[in-house]
Amino acid sequence: MQCAWCRRFFDADGCIVRAAPASDLPINHGICYACLDTMLRAEVDRHRRAGDFRAALAAESDRLRTYTRLIHARYVATRRRVTAIHERTRQAVAQSRAIREAGRRAR
Ligand SMILES: [Zn+2]
Repeated sequence: MQCAWCRRFFDADGCIVRAAPASDLPINHGICYACLDTMLRAEVDRHRRAGDFRAALAAESDRLRTYTRLIHARYVATRRRVTAIHERTRQAVAQSRAIREAGRRAR
């Protein structure tokens, strides 16, 4: 997806994947976590300046929940990658052992 605010690209886990293109390509209405955080912080500050601390606290809770979702999504994505690396390592070790065993039998 591409952030409608900053135009950076981000994946399904909310991670920025590369810088925005130089050209003005059409964008969708997604928003990256960095821009969402900026928007939510501005909302917290707006409520604080207005003296509405209850609303400021609610907005800050929303912001922290957003971070919790991001952290969880990144944890799941990282765990998926680590599991894939472990599986490839396991296969490489098994293949190496098979090659070594075949070499021993050939002698
Ligand atoms: Zn953005």
